[in-house]
Amino acid sequence: MKNCKTTCSYCGVGCGISLSKDKDDFLELEGNEQYPVNEGMLCSKGMNLHNVVMDKSDRLLEPQMRSAKHHQLQNVSWDTAMTRAAAVFKSIIKKYGPDSVGLYVSGQLLTEEYYLANKLTKGFLGTNNIDTNSRLCMSSAVVGYKKTIGDDTPPISYEDIEHSDCFFIAGANPAWCHPILFRRIEKRKEQFPDTKIIVVDPRKTQSAEMADLHLPLIPGTDVYLFNAIAKLLVQYGAVDYNFLELHCNGGHQLLEFLKDLDLNETAQACGLELSLIEQAARLIADSKTLLSMWTMGLNQSSIGTNKNLALINLNLLTGRIGKAGSGPFSLTGQPNAMGGREVGGLSNLLAAHHDLDNPAHCNKVANYWGCGSVQSKPGLSATEMIDALDDGRLKAIWIICTNPAVSLPNLEKVERAYKKAKFVMVSDISSKSDTLKFADMILPAAGWAEKEGTMTNSERRVSHLPKIIDPPGNARPDVDILKHFAQKMGWEDAFTYPNEEAIFDEHKELTRGTNIDICGITYDRLKKKSIQWPCPSEDHPGTKRLFEDFKFFTPDKKAKVHVVEPEHKSEKTCGDYPLILTTGRIRDQWHTMTRTGKVQRLNQHTPAPKLEIHPDDAAKLKILDGENVEITSRRSSVIVASQVSTAIRPGTVFLPMHWGYINKSNKARANNLTSDIIDPISKEPDFKFSAVKVQAL
Ligand code: SF4
Repeated sequence: MKNCKTTCSYCGVGCGISLSKDKDDFLELEGNEQYPVNEGMLCSKGMNLHNVVMDKSDRLLEPQMRSAKHHQLQNVSWDTAMTRAAAVFKSIIKKYGPDSVGLYVSGQLLTEEYYLANKLTKGFLGTNNIDTNSRLCMSSAVVGYKKTIGDDTPPISYEDIEHSDCFFIAGANPAWCHPILFRRIEKRKEQFPDTKIIVVDPRKTQSAEMADLHLPLIPGTDVYLFNAIAKLLVQYGAVDYNFLELHCNGGHQLLEFLKDLDLNETAQACGLELSLIEQAARLIADSKTLLSMWTMGLNQSSIGTNKNLALINLNLLTGRIGKAGSGPFSLTGQPNAMGGREVGGLSNLLAAHHDLDNPAHCNKVANYWGCGSVQSKPGLSATEMIDALDDGRLKAIWIICTNPAVSLPNLEKVERAYKKAKFVMVSDISSKSDTLKFADMILPAAGWAEKEGTMTNSERRVSHLPKIIDPPGNARPDVDILKHFAQKMGWEDAFTYPNEEAIFDEHKELTRGTNIDICGITYDRLKKKSIQWPCPSEDHPGTKRLFEDFKFFTPDKKAKVHVVEPEHKSEKTCGDYPLILTTGRIRDQWHTMTRTGKVQRLNQHTPAPKLEIHPDDAAKLKILDGENVEITSRRSSVIVASQVSTAIRPGTVFLPMHWGYINKSNKARANNLTSDIIDPISKEPDFKFSAVKVQAL
């Protein structure tokens, strides 16, 4: 058996894996005991990755295309497919301009793929219309970091877990969604029982179950809560005035704002007893450190940016950042959301953390790519692309490594928009992607372990993933598909690379001298050891914790404290739609189940989606546990079984987001219901707040 070291391709924890294969490509898998992230541990999803790879039954094997909308898809050669794809893109751009085309990509792409897709779009297609499913996940955190510490740079290391005595986990269920990281928190608590864990979530999740304190707030009221805690931290003497004075701007304004805050009114707005909020503030005040962790509960919100700012205020007020065990820590959902942010893979970002709204940055990147110019106007974000397809501004879209026909909000509108498109091209590994039904061209891609590249996890750790087996049929790595397309567009010179390492080297050179400088990282180093950025030179060991000198990435090196007024920008509940729907993940499934849904063992934990509803609401609506219910929003409806449970607060219901029509029926798709309101700054959708009604069937 040949043994290779690689990284798990599910969540942003980024666990190390040892993968062995025999001469028949039979794979065996175990956690890499030497890897610093997981020391051999893997969760149920990671433990079954080899089974996903070995089951080829659903794999796309040949390029397919239709010559007209009403024709059937037919197998074609790669050359025929790429010639046609380039011809269609050229003709649409010639007729309607470059902003009539776009790419929608994924936080599961490897960095080299992400880099090429971004360069192709912003540099050569001449549009900034490239967005990614990371928009649905981390874009509020990106803005939160930029507005407070000056750049999109999570400051902490996982090692900080072993130095922390206070975990403040808001809008996240790491016990299910980042299990190996949560195991490290549990271990810390086992070894140091005085360690405090506070969980903020409308549901009593497994993370909340083992917390010292659970704050089951009304969805969307996090800013009220964080402001109240900030005021109490002032009262309890936990503010580091010296830190605020020397290293922050805006501290004085926040302290003035907090003086007038009415704690009773604030507690009422959150639907919490004031005593619970006081306990939370007291636990933080009495601790030495503060590791604040968050994910979709804060980010996926019409006020996601503000929730991030109000949370990061707590670290800044207490001066608990840049120190062991302290700092704000966004838990990335996808394995390479961070790598995607490094290459500028969102429609409002530019490569290597350069800024689209800075003409000097646009010129620098354009010169580096040799493409003439880069537009400074941000491109369309994920849901804006749907609006633009719907109203005809966007004519062609290339969807790579993601399944938006299940994962975007307001799916009936998404379906209508894709049907209106002149040309939909989809690159994927699985015939079970629901998005394929809208495709005019399907491109079979190589999957995990079938291609080489790098990824960056939540703690800025870059790792190398080797190619271990060949992809099936005529499936190809996404870098090869992107290069082939570029060559057919006439840009061969700018897209000729001898190997993936050459793409990585081109990407890293753009980071030279920036806050994320990775010039010291080479494939050779990564093959021996993963490295956390910044790492500016080959003798640099990488950076575990940022801002130990309290010099932030803002122009004057001071962090920015923000006064954040609570707002409600979600859709309104009313007599017709009285309940708040929140959506999320379950333990053993990943995204839209095209991979985890193939593994029998993983389907056993939650075989079908259920609507979690509080007994008080169920009694009012005469709903019995397990009976089918219809959930209806202003957009569409869903039918699933009910799960009557005290784990959710009254007035709120919860539905898992994984199921699409391929796996079940479109009657189980949570995103039939969800609102497509977005945060006006981060453009992240409001998945955690939709107004619905529920009826027994
Ligand atoms: Fe993979 Fe995340 Fe599980 Fe680790 S915690 S094995 S990275 S899914």
